Amino acid sequence: MARYTGPACKLCRREGKKLYLKGDRCLSGKCALDRRATAPGQHGAAKKKMREYGLQLREKQTTKRYYGVLEKQFKNYYDEAARKEGMTGENLLLLLERRLDNVVYRLGFAESRRDARQLVLHAHFTVNGKKVNIPSLIVKAGDVVAVKEASRSSDKFKAMTEKNVIVPKWLEVDTANLSGKVAALPAREDIDFDFNEQLIVELYSK
Ligand code: SF4
Repeated sequence: MARYTGPACKLCRREGKKLYLKGDRCLSGKCALDRRATAPGQHGAAKKKMREYGLQLREKQTTKRYYGVLEKQFKNYYDEAARKEGMTGENLLLLLERRLDNVVYRLGFAESRRDARQLVLHAHFTVNGKKVNIPSLIVKAGDVVAVKEASRSSDKFKAMTEKNVIVPKWLEVDTANLSGKVAALPAREDIDFDFNEQLIVELYSK
């Protein structure tokens, strides 16, 4: 499946928001958006007034890029969210939040969601003791996510055991043992990014 492999910072500049795609660099003075907050391209600096459709489209792109999901996959999440009880936009965000690559990132076992996706693909993690390599796996309450035994001695993971990680309240982490638990399903207020999910619902409801 085709995946965007271009510069990550270009995506933030396109959306005009920090999407935190590059780990520590995003928090440093080297962040491209902090240094040049204009859209990429020849006319990127031109001020454009966005219409309703433009705002809806940008919100969808922002959400998709933040979680590192492709268009078709994103629409599938939307359809699943719409079938569930409750508010579709909120259901959508909560499904995305429960992706294994996001959980690995939130637990502090990867620098970014992109990094988490690569690590999961290379089968460095187990869920409930079973090796997994599916970044889109949706975790359930009670699931235990851990770095697999054979990967723990790598320099990358060894360095993580010394990190002080703050996780959202629906997750518990045991950094020293490189494992974490889904203590409960996430709630909307656990997502700390400024999404306007209603715009996505409006876009897909046209
Ligand atoms: Fe986005 Fe991070 Fe690049 Fe800043 S450094 S533009 S937040 S990916």
